Amino acid sequence: MTDATFETRNPANGQVLATVARGTAREVDAAVTAARTAFEDGAWPRFSPADRQRLLLRLADLLERDAEDFARIDTLEMGSPIRHTRGSVALLVDLLRYYAGMARAIEGLTAQPSDPDMFACTLREPVGVCGAIIPWNGPLWASVLKLGPVLATGCTLVLKPAEDASLAPLMLARLAEEAGVPPGVFNVVTGFGAEAGAALAAHPGIDKLAFTGSDATGRAIAAAAGANLTKLSLELGGKSPNIIFADADLDAAARTAVIAAFANSGQVCSAGTRLFVEQPVHREFAERVARIAQTLRIGDGMDPDTDLGPLVSARQLGRVCGHMDDARAAGATAISGGGRLTGAGYDQGFFFPPTVLVDARDDMRAVREEIFGPILATLPFTTEDEVVTRANATPFGLGAGVWTRDVGRAHRLGRRLRAGSVWVNCYNAIDPAMPSGGMKASGYGREYGRAHLDEHLETKSLWISSR
Ligand code: NAD
Repeated sequence: MTDATFETRNPANGQVLATVARGTAREVDAAVTAARTAFEDGAWPRFSPADRQRLLLRLADLLERDAEDFARIDTLEMGSPIRHTRGSVALLVDLLRYYAGMARAIEGLTAQPSDPDMFACTLREPVGVCGAIIPWNGPLWASVLKLGPVLATGCTLVLKPAEDASLAPLMLARLAEEAGVPPGVFNVVTGFGAEAGAALAAHPGIDKLAFTGSDATGRAIAAAAGANLTKLSLELGGKSPNIIFADADLDAAARTAVIAAFANSGQVCSAGTRLFVEQPVHREFAERVARIAQTLRIGDGMDPDTDLGPLVSARQLGRVCGHMDDARAAGATAISGGGRLTGAGYDQGFFFPPTVLVDARDDMRAVREEIFGPILATLPFTTEDEVVTRANATPFGLGAGVWTRDVGRAHRLGRRLRAGSVWVNCYNAIDPAMPSGGMKASGYGREYGRAHLDEHLETKSLWISSR
């Protein structure tokens, strides 16, 4: 096995947090073999749905016990404010309990074929060895989201965390062991995308691969998995519209627009980064959003008063600054933020303030491409048809927000917007029972809810003749 390692750093101050094993194709292969063995032999295939439910409930209890440790490690490694990561852990405990329930709700159907001497039913069987490649913006979140349905359905998993955030997934593996997850059922291989990630995507021993990350990497992974006909689900990026009509509760809409765009410093796949505002209220609304954004406290995520932490890495900061320069050169104006934060407390980290743009146009790069940072473009519109067309004029289709008091319009836009989730008078609502995923270049497949279980189950048709 490899002796090579790499360092993981705290983005608030650049300090090294840990050295992590740099897995390669060899480690991936060993993990896939372990996952295959666990899937086919040993104790795991004999776990009943009730056993798997108990296991998931135990894991949920342990995560609840260690909630503070997990919140702190996510904050230390990727910068997200501790209030945010504490809230996430609580939701993930609930998510595991949801999957525990789902372990007992896997059902096939009994058909009534025309032939009276034929009995026909469907069996739902675990798809097998699953692979998962996840990003850094919510490392614990993504790990739990991949592991929950695997344990509920009786599959096994090889997980490759992002190189910027390996620690919470490793801690989760230790917790799974403590909960009684049999050896080989949950494997974590840390390392780089081009090494461990690419090896996992191309491994012929994977029955089903789940990828969460950028659309560029998603395309490479789809090609590699496609060569083996590996089943694949993709949760990719977005450039989600948030549409404000003048008749909306503008106070609530402005407060939520700030969270929609800037939570986790904009490093959220469904961030509402294109803020369409009906013309008569556009400028006033943009200024209101900018004023709220300016009240957010920016600093080390470990400070309980921090609203926005640093970006995850120097590379990410460079990307965000590049987009800002581009937007300015194309004629946009920042009415809050607009450049890297410097000075005491900021110089050692990767801090960028919440930035609200006016004078932006749909064709600007910062309005077309996912930035994955705290830059929000405000865009005026005049009619419902116009805003639907413009909101849909993106390769992505992950989320969309609509703010209005007109119930007919809420229904119309709920149907017309091409996005996996449409939120009316709210944004980024999430629940274990509600599927989430993308249309168009935001990916395929769904996570959460029954749809997520289905991704991990094969449907077998069983015919028994009584003749
Ligand atoms: P990324 O695509 O750069 O990396 C994601 C993962 O893929 C990492 O583990 C990385 O090591 C691995 N990887 C990179 N190159 C690879 C290759 N050639 N083969 C196999 N694996 C490879 O994305 P990121 O920068 O870590 O995360 C940000 C992106 O993730 C954004 O685009 C964001 O929208 C997206 N995201 C989507 C969702 C969703 O649910 N739709 C959720 C969170 C993040």
